[in-house]
Amino acid sequence: MTNKIIKGGEFLVKETSFEDIFIPEEFNEEQDMTANMCRDFVNKEILPKIDDLDKHDPALLLKLLKSAGEMGLFGISIPEEYDGFGQNFVTSMRAIEEIGRAFSYAVAFSAHTGIGTLPILYYGNETQKQKYVTKLATGEYIGAYCLTEPEAGSDANSGKSKAIISEDKKYYTLNGVKSWITNGGVADIHIVFAKINDDKNLSAFIVESNWEGVILGAEEEKMGIKGSSTVQVYYNDVKIPVENLLGKRNGGFKIALNILNIGRIKLGGACIGAAKGVITSSVTYANERKQFKTPIAQFGAIKHKLAEMAIRVFACESLIYRASQNIEDATQQYIDEGMDKNAASLEGLRQYAIESSIAKVYSSEVLDYVVDEGVQIYGGIGYSAETDVERAYRDSRINRIFEGTNEINRMVMVGELLKRAFKGEIDIIRPATEVGKELMGIPDFGDTTQDYFELKKKAIKNFKKAILMVSGSAAQKYMDKLQDEQELLFVAADMLMFTYAAESFMLRVEKLENIRGEDRMELQKLMLDVYFYDIAAAIKKLGDDALHSFAEGNEKMGMLMGMKRFTKVEGINVIAARRKIADKIIDANKYPF
Ligand SMILES: Cc1cc2nc3c(=O)[nH]c(=O)nc-3n(C[C@H](O)[C@H](O)[C@H](O)COP(=O)(O)OP(=O)(O)OC[C@H]3O[C@@H](n4cnc5c(N)ncnc54)[C@H](O)[C@@H]3O)c2cc1C
Repeated sequence: MTNKIIKGGEFLVKETSFEDIFIPEEFNEEQDMTANMCRDFVNKEILPKIDDLDKHDPALLLKLLKSAGEMGLFGISIPEEYDGFGQNFVTSMRAIEEIGRAFSYAVAFSAHTGIGTLPILYYGNETQKQKYVTKLATGEYIGAYCLTEPEAGSDANSGKSKAIISEDKKYYTLNGVKSWITNGGVADIHIVFAKINDDKNLSAFIVESNWEGVILGAEEEKMGIKGSSTVQVYYNDVKIPVENLLGKRNGGFKIALNILNIGRIKLGGACIGAAKGVITSSVTYANERKQFKTPIAQFGAIKHKLAEMAIRVFACESLIYRASQNIEDATQQYIDEGMDKNAASLEGLRQYAIESSIAKVYSSEVLDYVVDEGVQIYGGIGYSAETDVERAYRDSRINRIFEGTNEINRMVMVGELLKRAFKGEIDIIRPATEVGKELMGIPDFGDTTQDYFELKKKAIKNFKKAILMVSGSAAQKYMDKLQDEQELLFVAADMLMFTYAAESFMLRVEKLENIRGEDRMELQKLMLDVYFYDIAAAIKKLGDDALHSFAEGNEKMGMLMGMKRFTKVEGINVIAARRKIADKIIDANKYPF
């Protein structure tokens, strides 16, 4: 990796310059065109039919999936040799953001284009790709991904599905049950994970749903995303030709995890699109609805909500596109170094697994916040099935559960970071030791900069010191038992997530100011100020809670003082700032940033 692109997870110990990140304001014409095409499709084809779709209509779902295929939307990032359009990763993120506004349809679309198609694209041999990917790219086939079992959810490698190889070694006989399979009711192709004979690890198979022994259960009655198809699938003595083994024997769990890395960041993009949609409908309603002879948008309480919804979405969007471009650049670099294109894509994604988990967790929690406040802005009618905000509220909740629950993803963030540190890929020890020394010394009051971005950068450096201080001392205390202290791992994960979001937000605003000039940046800077003010308090609370749990005596006192110092940011009038931000949203009558 070149010096300019910092490696995945390295943001904790390295600074990034604004020139080295991508911001959504830099989308090129082609990316805008793709986004417009997806937006038109959602507006014209999906949203008018969303009520019918949500009444559980698999035939309609299939029809709408096929039309996306015919329009070329499934093939956006599929290479041209497999009948796709070969667009880059950031473009596919931009596309999924637009599709994200399509409620339950977005889930069906994402499952097909992501976990239903990519395992074959990335791990299939040439024959498998020509046979299946070409048809998945055009919508002739619909795909599903079958990992979860009734007894194997988060612990996905513990599944009981079995594939026994025949004596003549020509086929496997698959038996097992898979649960919660998105697109299960409409898919032609299932990527099924099962263990061969008495193997310890999973293998992956391409199964055609019309083969004998593939039995579909009834559609699940779900809280939300009702228009998507979710079923149990039973595989009863299904004969799979050996040529349909995907990748290597015993290599299935690796495939499952690597594909989920992509699914996680893509889910982030979809959540951002959904959240912007809810902000737009909330402000439109707030401008129309009058109480006490006043549009409710004019009340401070509603302004607070609108501003806060937008600030969090802006922060989340900043980190998602920063990470997306990093994935794209890393992939290109691996290709330049001679790696095969698929291997390079997977390596690029693996490199940013920590950031992908952050994107998944943060975006799903931001969306849950946004839909909750959206319902509140709508008041009673927000609780009625007549409104889209009610649908958005129910649909949002699944995002914290699938693609690895947010608990599992928080553990991935910290686990991956520690793994890379132990392997020597990221040097955390030296910076953590320096923070320790700094705590023992006299605070340096020499740096009295008043520059806006320098102050923000200093705050980010300090947040990172806070993370290193808390996690370093927790690691010393618990050693190899740290993994049993989940509450502490979660503290570290949240501190990491907020810091990455804050840094990405700041770099975006700094870059934007360099492009647009200072006088057009007032609102973005206010948003950034409010975000830093809130994040600093959140990080302090997280750190203090952790320190009170394991530190003692003078050491504890020293670290609590350090925590205070490392989370000190300028006090600002957040009430006035949020009002100004909200006024912009109210004037625009939509999400305007
Ligand atoms: C609508 C929907 C669509 C889905 N689509 C698909 C699909 O297409 N393909 C597919 O294969 N699967 C799919 N899933 C399954 C989904 O990925 C799983 O539900 C998810 O991985 C969680 O597994 P589980 O439901 O068994 O929960 P469990 O694993 O039983 O978890 C229950 C709770 O315990 C927590 N937990 C579990 N282990 C730990 C731990 N070690 N430490 C701390 N907390 C822990 C979890 O975070 C969660 O809060 C779908 C699920 C739903 C609801």
